[in-house]
Amino acid sequence: MTKDEDLEKGIAAGGDDYIYKPVSDVVLGAKIRAMQRIIQMRYSLLVLTRKLDTANQELKRLTSLDGLTGIANRRHFDEVLLREWRRSMRQGAEFSILMCDVDFFKAYNDTLGHHAGDDCLRRIANALTAAMDRGGDLVARYGGEEFVIILPETSLAGGRVVAERMRQAIEALDLNHPTAAGGQVTASFGLASGIAMPETDPSRLVKAADKALYEAKRAGRNQVCVITSLDRPEN
Ligand code: GH3
Ligand code: MG
Ligand code: MG
Repeated sequence: MTKDEDLEKGIAAGGDDYIYKPVSDVVLGAKIRAMQRIIQMRYSLLVLTRKLDTANQELKRLTSLDGLTGIANRRHFDEVLLREWRRSMRQGAEFSILMCDVDFFKAYNDTLGHHAGDDCLRRIANALTAAMDRGGDLVARYGGEEFVIILPETSLAGGRVVAERMRQAIEALDLNHPTAAGGQVTASFGLASGIAMPETDPSRLVKAADKALYEAKRAGRNQVCVITSLDRPEN
């Protein structure tokens, strides 16, 4: 069919081009070359899109990591905390938050220097990561010399076991601390557990764990302190 309307219908129906019979070899050859160019461009676009996807994924991974220690950063922690909080609400499952703070770290830096301090933080981050035993658990750098651990579907009793294992893992690094009483780098831990409730938010658990941590510091450091009721910490 050779009318203009036929050509229009052909393109509207999804054709990329329209040729009339009798077909000229020269015209057909030229059109095929143009089509090949379009195919090549489409392919290049696909390759570029894939590269962009990979770069975006890598960027996303990097924005969730802490530059010094290579573990999750605060931003990633906030995301996971919210996710776990919602999951706990759906499933009614208890979960635990552990706050960890290195003891007398200012003195460590002041006597050995920031380079040694940074190295110490990296080792502690590795020790905490190695002390986890479940895929869903997360260790993140909360800031400075503080770390936070999310333990999904974990009760207070379970959280206490993990906290104690982590505390011992830091001791086992056997890092010399020139001014601490025991001569070693240690850390204190605060633990809080709970089930997410609609009228509260996840910061409640973090605050409770922080309170327990404060109590662990007050009680002499290098120990785990637990919040049983949300306003009364105990050893
Ligand atoms: P406490 O036992 O009560 O926790 O005492 P502390 O000295 O650990 O606590 P404080 O909060 O007074 O000091 C924290 C210090 O941690 C301050 C700073 O020297 C050090 N610090 C924080 N972030 C970094 C870091 O990224 N690198 C290094 N090297 N040091 C850091
Ligand atoms: Mg601190
Ligand atoms: Mg400290």
